[in-house]
Amino acid sequence: MNEEEGIRLLSTVARAMLELSESSIAGAISLPYPPLAQHTLDRIVRLCLERSEPPPTGIPDLVSWCTRRTPSEWPFPIAAGRLRPGALLIDPAVRRPTRTCFELAGDAAPAAREAVRQLATTVDASSSTQRARNFLIDHPVVTDGLVRRDLVAMATWKRVKGLYEPPAKGYFSDRRVGRCPTCGLLAHLVGPRVDWCEGELCPRDKPPARYRAEEHVRLLIAPLRLFLSLPGRTERQLGEKLAAIGAGFRLVDPIEGTHELDRPLRGKRIVHVADRIEPGLLAIDALRWPDSLVVVPQRLFDRVADYRETFADAVGAAADITLLSDDELVGLAVDARMGKDDA
Ligand SMILES: [Zn+2]
Repeated sequence: MNEEEGIRLLSTVARAMLELSESSIAGAISLPYPPLAQHTLDRIVRLCLERSEPPPTGIPDLVSWCTRRTPSEWPFPIAAGRLRPGALLIDPAVRRPTRTCFELAGDAAPAAREAVRQLATTVDASSSTQRARNFLIDHPVVTDGLVRRDLVAMATWKRVKGLYEPPAKGYFSDRRVGRCPTCGLLAHLVGPRVDWCEGELCPRDKPPARYRAEEHVRLLIAPLRLFLSLPGRTERQLGEKLAAIGAGFRLVDPIEGTHELDRPLRGKRIVHVADRIEPGLLAIDALRWPDSLVVVPQRLFDRVADYRETFADAVGAAADITLLSDDELVGLAVDARMGKDDA
């Protein structure tokens, strides 16, 4: 097995883990296992036997492997630079799929785009699609009270409620679902404190929002939480910062999330905001957006070692894609307003 086949197999393991986590109630993995998980287990057992290594003893053991094996520790080679050296597929503390798992599985980002495309086909006006898209970005978690409070939100809710589901039991702690104040996504609470959130990199010192089961909590489906709501939060903050200095930043394609600047920065007008923990995988997806500025939250540069370098190596010289943080883009826009050379 070569490195490319290895990363494809690990991607299959990631998809199997997502299927298992979806089919399990309260986080417990139970029989019967989804066929993909069983098939993936069989492939890994065969590989281990060929290499005279001890194989996983079953699906629960394969899940345990995912909580502790980094890319170099699987019994097959993984293409270098594709995943962070310490990346795991399942978080060992909360035993849920990690962002790496979602990004590697590769199905969730297309599913998020497809959901927005479907929304766009149900209305005539693009402003209405944008309103629905903004609602999804702003509301990864909703309650009855939150929707009823606002007539506009109620009208939008009727269009998008099919994209929400009740939280699995495993998301409740102390009969409450937590929401991280930084990334806005689901948080695991220990008492009043966040000890894990879906964004994974957020500071832990701010108090979370907490919702009781009686409030009829609904969660945006996972692909949209991670691949629309998460980057959308940065996208909305970036838009506000650019507006404050008089710079235009307009959504031109709600399905791809393509924005256009009113004047070019670094010779480019088209912006895609992304929030991916794996720069090597983002680079492959970013090839969809040639000649763009790809903007990620500054915290990824601060918290993930060699983010910029890994992205640049994976993109290669062929594509003209510039990677910037949100702070850097605002800095460039300020310089451009002041007439400084931004090239
Ligand atoms: Zn968070």
